Amino acid sequence: MNKKQNSKQKIQKLAENDARPERAIQPTELLNDTLRRIFGCELADATQKQVYRALCISVRELLTEKNRVFGNRCTEKERKEVYYMSMEFLVGTSLRNNLFNLGLEAEFRKALADAGFDIDEIYAIDPDAGLGNGGLGRLASCYMDAATGMDYPMTGFSIRYEFGIFKQKIVDGWQMEFPDNWLEMGDVWLQAREDDAVEVKFGGEVREWMDNDRFKVAQVGYSSVMAVPYDMYISGYDSDAANRLVLWSAKLPQSFDMAAFSRGDYVRALERNAMAETISKVLYPADDHIQGKRLRLKQQYLLVSASLQSILKKHYKKYRTYTNLPEKVAIHINDTHPALCVPELMRLLIDEHDFGWDEAWDITCRTLSYTNHTVMSEALERWNVDLFREQLPRVYSICQEINRRLIEHLCAVYPNDWGKINYMAVIANNEVRMANLCLAACHKVNGVSKLHTDILRNGIFRDYCQITPERFLNVTNGIAYRRWLCQSDPLLTDYLKQLIGGDFLRDARALEKLLPYQNDEKVLADLMAIKRKNKERLAALIENQNGVRVDPDSIFDIQIKRLHEYKRQLLNILHVLYLYRQIKANPHGDFMPRTFIFAAKASAGYIRAKQIISLIVAASKLINNDPDVNDKLKVVFLEDYKVSLAEIIIPAADISEQISIAGKEASGTGNMKLMINGAVTIGTLDGANVEIHEQVGDENIFLFGMKAHEVEELWQRGYHPTEFITPELQAVLDMLTSGVLGQRFDDLVDSLLTNRFGTADPYMTLADFQDYARAQRDVAAVYQDKQRFARMSLINIAKAGIFSSDRAVKEYADEIWNLD
Ligand SMILES: *Cc1c(COP(=O)(O)O)cnc(C)c1O
Repeated sequence: MNKKQNSKQKIQKLAENDARPERAIQPTELLNDTLRRIFGCELADATQKQVYRALCISVRELLTEKNRVFGNRCTEKERKEVYYMSMEFLVGTSLRNNLFNLGLEAEFRKALADAGFDIDEIYAIDPDAGLGNGGLGRLASCYMDAATGMDYPMTGFSIRYEFGIFKQKIVDGWQMEFPDNWLEMGDVWLQAREDDAVEVKFGGEVREWMDNDRFKVAQVGYSSVMAVPYDMYISGYDSDAANRLVLWSAKLPQSFDMAAFSRGDYVRALERNAMAETISKVLYPADDHIQGKRLRLKQQYLLVSASLQSILKKHYKKYRTYTNLPEKVAIHINDTHPALCVPELMRLLIDEHDFGWDEAWDITCRTLSYTNHTVMSEALERWNVDLFREQLPRVYSICQEINRRLIEHLCAVYPNDWGKINYMAVIANNEVRMANLCLAACHKVNGVSKLHTDILRNGIFRDYCQITPERFLNVTNGIAYRRWLCQSDPLLTDYLKQLIGGDFLRDARALEKLLPYQNDEKVLADLMAIKRKNKERLAALIENQNGVRVDPDSIFDIQIKRLHEYKRQLLNILHVLYLYRQIKANPHGDFMPRTFIFAAKASAGYIRAKQIISLIVAASKLINNDPDVNDKLKVVFLEDYKVSLAEIIIPAADISEQISIAGKEASGTGNMKLMINGAVTIGTLDGANVEIHEQVGDENIFLFGMKAHEVEELWQRGYHPTEFITPELQAVLDMLTSGVLGQRFDDLVDSLLTNRFGTADPYMTLADFQDYARAQRDVAAVYQDKQRFARMSLINIAKAGIFSSDRAVKEYADEIWNLD
């Protein structure tokens, strides 16, 4: 090989024949080459930030080549490809994940150490790509990782939000939001493709005419926005594949409005420019809640229209036809946010590619599939008809025709059952209903846990399920456990490798090899020692961030997730105050020391959620500063919950709080991450907790509370929260209104007791309180017996393999996408 070739060229050469160019990497040489090219320096005189950028760029170039070769192979073999459409990808950090997946972690660690750099400090520079709110966005990222690791050709489509999920700070006990300018450093992972920009049309009106006996339709008088794709490469563990996450950014077609310029209206011209670019400016921070805002609709259409145009273009270039689209392309709609795929694919096929309605509908239905993520009515997307028609006139007219044909069909199936027909309609009551749009079209619809899918089948989607039962199926969520276990808990991972071998790195089910050690005292002690180390690491972070010292020998009881009333952080903190009162009443009693740790962002406009955060913060102030309880009880609220913080908290958890009201948490994935790190769940039989319970049995989980059907029955009977209030619980509620917490939380108590805000205690916090307190007593009792607790922990790790995203993605590939 020519000595003058740099590493980049060598990688290109190698990659032509070798799907694993990373195997030929010489870390020091590669870093020096990149540093010379980009910064004109070498490792010896580079700054830490320069090394960070050079390392990221080197990895990105490696993945670019892998992706090119992989893409060519898929094209040669005419493999079916899947496109995952999601308004959110909660990517987290990329550098460590990519090095780990490529098998280069140890080599680069050493090469950097030799040059005087600590790779962990360099990892710390890598910002979280926070292009999502919570579970739904993280799931999309876990699935990209898993699909890539299994060599499936999968492309993710989303938006390049300039500002991802906000940074959270607690100021005077209240959540404040600050912009997350992740691109400042995170841009190293993105590769712009300006030449592949796509035009997306908003507004105007529909014009119809006859052209040589053909009925023609077009949108006229619209305004254009250009969608520019930015590629982020996704690696897979020990894999020949590299896939792409394509993020669209909005730009005006020509940077200036020349007409406005010639009128001398310079400021207005630039303003218009800025208006177009606001479309991809910021992620909406509401989780599981709709915001019927014009800008949000424009974001959704930007994603859908740009992605579908680029998919069709690539497909036509390969196959010179669109009729085989369903055989070669699967397009997945992650929740209803990209549901505009249905009318937009119809529009493109009919208006731009001359298909008739019936054939276009057949192609559309067989290409699209949809995952539902929630049954909460406030999260089911509905758009005001006037807003929708104003922004997307042609797409609206297609929705009308879909609706007209649907209703014609339903009238035949359910004659005169107008209630049902109205419930199933795509357009009704002056709204366009996105879930019904998906149900009317998609050839597969799935829920995300067994319980959730049952609720879809027998509850909210019952009527659709009756006419097309074969379309409905369950795929229980899964997690990319190589990030959530192997990378975030290297101590446990190395220990497991020694004990049971490394098979579990490829196949999570091999974690079951741990089971034979469940009575091995040495192994149980080792596991507790590792947990203790992880708790020390978290304790140091807590002391550093909150100035609170917590005892690593206390039970670390952890609730980390978005702040939502249905997730019932309120139940947890009320119980903490209940414990506080018990200790105060009996300061010398025998009490198992506990540390309750919370982390959660509330949607910026969700006042009740913010009040709950304030309550947690106020309770922590009171409790942590009370010498009577100091060595027994601590409460911590960690700011700015995000992927990289989760990676530090989760390995340190003893107890995983999964306490949503039964029937509301579609699946949960935090429960799975905590389980695989050896935390024992205290939870309701909700979402995937049901399946965690199936795996570990009654003995290895702390269940409490009403089951989903009992919740339903109590609603039917009539729920009166005051009936569930004991004197002890009343005393806790009194703490909220008396001022002992430094402020008063009358609103929160009102929301539990009175109908002033609609229904009293709609999430039945009080109804489940006593049984929750009982389950928490069980936790303390079991923890007294360290070995018994360690055994529970071991069994949770051993049985968590089924919750791998490898298993989940395989099910999608086989049963929904029909990939080879
Ligand atoms: C996994 C994850 C979630 C989802 O947590 P749930 O407990 O399932 O709601 C939310 N946010 C982040 C940062 C996560 O990593």
